[in-house]
Amino acid sequence: MDKISVLISQEAIETRIQEMADRINRDYAGQKVHLIGILKGSVFFLCELAKRLTVPTTMDFMSVSSYGAGTEFQGRVKIVMDLSESIEGKHVILVEDIIDSGNTLAYLLPILKSRGPESLRLITLLDKPERREKEVPVEESGFVIPNAYVVGYGLDYGQKYRNLPYIGIVEVQKGENNG
Ligand code: 5GP
Repeated sequence: MDKISVLISQEAIETRIQEMADRINRDYAGQKVHLIGILKGSVFFLCELAKRLTVPTTMDFMSVSSYGAGTEFQGRVKIVMDLSESIEGKHVILVEDIIDSGNTLAYLLPILKSRGPESLRLITLLDKPERREKEVPVEESGFVIPNAYVVGYGLDYGQKYRNLPYIGIVEVQKGENNG
């Protein structure tokens, strides 16, 4: 069993998501928004945000992965599952779980822009700016966090812990076998 310490409580996350939703409701008053979630990590954040939006909202999802089996990022990202609808002429909000190196978004944003949205905004629940390798234009971050590997609220560790209702840090147990 991994030990997980709470970094951000469920209550703090949901208070912050309400603030982020309030801003979208103000900024996009009289317009429609189209949320795009990147699977699987951003699903929890996207749903909690969408539930709090009062402007007409549609949503779509895509799935991406980095090329290669190595742990080092190799500079290329693959779209594993593309959006199901066109984003042309729409006010698109790209909803991310966490921005780390920025490599994924540095690849994805130009592709989305080239598809002709009316506007494109990037928001993220978590931001680790210390780790940034590529600049990405983040409109709003829920929480700026230190350089630690976090889980919960959609984020996994070997596909586990996505369902935790808080953000936590996994403490790797030294001298213990996994499993
Ligand atoms: P980037 O391209 O910005 O380096 O990576 C973004 C992706 O890396 C995120 O969408 C997420 O899947 C993964 N990632 C980065 N940092 C963390 C972390 O602390 N915890 C988890 N679970 N995933 C992370």
